[in-house]
Amino acid sequence: MITHPVHLVGAGPGDPELLTLKALRVLREATVVLVDDLVDDAVLDLAFADPAARPRIVRVGKRGGCASTPQEFIERLLVREALAGEKVVRLKGGDPLVFGRAGEEIAALHAAGLEAVVVNGITSGLGAAAALGVGWTDRRVGAQGVLLVTGHTREESHGQDWEDIGRVAAGGVTLVVYMGISQLPAIAAGLRRALPADLPAAVVQHATTARERAARTTLGGLVDTVSSQGFGSPAVLVIGRVVDAVALAREATPTNVVAAVS
Ligand code: SAH
Repeated sequence: MITHPVHLVGAGPGDPELLTLKALRVLREATVVLVDDLVDDAVLDLAFADPAARPRIVRVGKRGGCASTPQEFIERLLVREALAGEKVVRLKGGDPLVFGRAGEEIAALHAAGLEAVVVNGITSGLGAAAALGVGWTDRRVGAQGVLLVTGHTREESHGQDWEDIGRVAAGGVTLVVYMGISQLPAIAAGLRRALPADLPAAVVQHATTARERAARTTLGGLVDTVSSQGFGSPAVLVIGRVVDAVALAREATPTNVVAAVS
């Protein structure tokens, strides 16, 4: 039996136009696609415009808290389909390498003697940055870097030390928190031990999709904003002075520049 490399493909944050050309090609060559539930249907509609030419699509969602497909089952399925000679794509939201459990899947494929190829996607945190119109590393506010951090940790770990993470952010590092909504009160309280309440913060839900919504607030106001405005998963939190960079740019733009352009 000839086997093919299994492609772990990033679907991007939602907007199908953010798919890479490579992702599109690999999807169209696939015979089986295992899809996460965070992947927007619009992505599949774009990739497979002709319903008759669709590969077999298996939905293997595992949204936090809901009925889910166990990770081990997904890994066994990937291996089984690939060993049967199928051209398998594992389609994941955002980028497969950002909180995407790609590591476990690559290991399972390698253990079965199969090749794994990663095709990057745009991670949802970057989609959120675009939605807000702010860069993670805006030097005008002294942002020297960015920390992508999960609000969910493995059950056996003792959770994130948010105060320590806050100390890193205090040095000018933007925090981008994935999967942070359900643990937000604990996250915000921990961060507050190291960061001021008036530090700018934002929440972006369904970034880059038609359902996208975002709110700017402060670290001190984040819990209240998220609950009073009904933000839910999937959402990314962005914490740091960059959240104010847009307003800052507007203030800094001399009015005569606008006049000169018009
Ligand atoms: N590999 C994915 C992340 C998977 S973890 C990536 O690179 O984006 C799932 C988390 O991603 C969600 O809990 C949420 O925090 C974030 N997320 C995924 N899609 C999103 C979207 N369209 N808008 C905002 N956050 C999103």
